[in-house]
Amino acid sequence: MFMAHPSLDDDRRRVDAEVDQITGRLSAMRRHLHENPELSSREFATTSYVARQLAGAKVNHRLARGKRGVVTAITPSRRSRGPVVALRADLDALPIVEENKAAYRSRQPGVMHACGHDAHTAMLLGATLALHRAGPLEVGWRSIFQPEEEAGHGARSLVRQGALEGVQSILAFHVDPTLPVGQVCITAGPQTAFCQDFTITLRGQGGHGARPHLTIDPIATAAQLITTIYQAVPRQNDPRDPLVVTIGSIQSGQTNNVIPDVATLKGTIRSFAEATSTAARETVERVCAGTARAFRAEVRPEFDRLLPGVINDAKLAALCVAAAREMLGEKNVVTERRPSLGAEDFADYLATIPGCMMLLGTKGPGKKVTPLHTPTFDIDEKALAIGTRLLAHALLKLGQEPPAC
Ligand SMILES: [Zn+2]
Ligand SMILES: [Zn+2]
Repeated sequence: MFMAHPSLDDDRRRVDAEVDQITGRLSAMRRHLHENPELSSREFATTSYVARQLAGAKVNHRLARGKRGVVTAITPSRRSRGPVVALRADLDALPIVEENKAAYRSRQPGVMHACGHDAHTAMLLGATLALHRAGPLEVGWRSIFQPEEEAGHGARSLVRQGALEGVQSILAFHVDPTLPVGQVCITAGPQTAFCQDFTITLRGQGGHGARPHLTIDPIATAAQLITTIYQAVPRQNDPRDPLVVTIGSIQSGQTNNVIPDVATLKGTIRSFAEATSTAARETVERVCAGTARAFRAEVRPEFDRLLPGVINDAKLAALCVAAAREMLGEKNVVTERRPSLGAEDFADYLATIPGCMMLLGTKGPGKKVTPLHTPTFDIDEKALAIGTRLLAHALLKLGQEPPAC
């Protein structure tokens, strides 16, 4: 049971008044970002836009290494040893050609904010400006605008640059186009999958298509390899543990009658537990070794870093649910949902401190669901004010916790 802190209502009144002031600017900020998307590791203009908004409001901040990403200074709690909470948004867009006809569609050919990171950034900017203007609160806070979420490197890089120093917990939103605007989904436990990407290079010996016996055929080897991976991985996994392996790319050869030297496969393993992912990786390695022997080819699998899954802290999730219910009403807060096998680098903060990622409904009434990462993705902008206010309210709720030791 969390006891209401006498100053919470006062904090909330002041923050709400400031959020009211900023609400009219949220759509313009989001549209500016939507029109000017930048790919992972190239978020220079986005960073300087965020920094300009912060500087204009005299919010202390520093740019992350390479001028990609912004971290605000910690605004300490009014209380001595009060908790400090980080709020996080991501800045990057995707290599997708936008098909929306809206006036604010992307001006960058082949680049699009199709994962809602423009909305995340606008909402965090709004919350940051409102919290700053509200003055010191019961809870200390800092905002983190990170680059390279889609590439899976940004969060880890900012953690290494000290973004979590002095911070005890972290909150973030991801937009959810399947959820109606006005609703949020907050669940404890696994939210996203452990993600292990891999590349397999198969080297044989090319030759004439009519004389395969004089070659070592990497395409035949790859065909068998894919079939065996798709059979061996699920058959060697406890069916009670969710797991999927997908080969999403196969590249080899040029023409009908030439057996090439090399084939390359790219794939990903998704699960909800590190042990499950590790076991699947070992199965892939064994299948590669066995297939190599059978086909006399060289088969070399290379695995990227295992990106952990986002696991929401139960206590923080309960506080966020309480804040959301007070703001939106009980029926608009979904608290049970199956996790996604997608990946999200918010997990890299959670390796250091507990946190909670909330999902924000962005589907307009009567509108079709436009999935994330598609050329027609868009949001109902009414969600921006809801997300901004809830981010601030959840932060204040976390300030009700006893002082950090
Ligand atoms: Zn994405
Ligand atoms: Zn995303």
